[in-house]
Amino acid sequence: MKKRAVFLDRDGVLNRTIIRNGKPYPPASVDELEIMPGVVDGLQRLKEANFVLIVVSNQPDVRRGITSRSTVEDINNSLAKLLPIDRFKICYHDNSDVCDCRKPNPGMLIAGAGDFDIDMASSYMVGDRWKDMEAGISAGCRTIFIEQGYNEKQPKVFDYKVSYFTDAVNIIMEGEM
Ligand SMILES: [Mg+2]
Ligand SMILES: [Zn+2]
Repeated sequence: MKKRAVFLDRDGVLNRTIIRNGKPYPPASVDELEIMPGVVDGLQRLKEANFVLIVVSNQPDVRRGITSRSTVEDINNSLAKLLPIDRFKICYHDNSDVCDCRKPNPGMLIAGAGDFDIDMASSYMVGDRWKDMEAGISAGCRTIFIEQGYNEKQPKVFDYKVSYFTDAVNIIMEGEM
């Protein structure tokens, strides 16, 4: 039997973003890493319900020379120690690279699904930006938008909109009953 996954955006979903002019940015280092409320308990509940937990994260600041790949990996390693994440899929490209992995493209979700033999139609993508929702839709997942009130383009299409990570977990778990 195929497994189900929850694909998780990283910044603004698992950890708090740094907000400048209303737009979210990733923590610059592990020192700025702060896990969002409800994430530790929520992921534990999903894990107990046998969901595979796959982080799918765009990190274009590496390509832009703003941060280093090792800084991104340090943050991921810290998250991996605190949270029951099964796999990290990271896109280090920018738009000019025209890669398949950078969200809104679904490449990281498709690769993650291949790693674990995942049924997309019964899986979820949880994110805080329009590219997360578009990637989830393109991959054939159900999508949950955690609205953070950023001053930027908003997603037009998604299955659910919530304010907190715990709400997203509740929606996923309701489908279990
Ligand atoms: Mg995000
Ligand atoms: Zn990429």
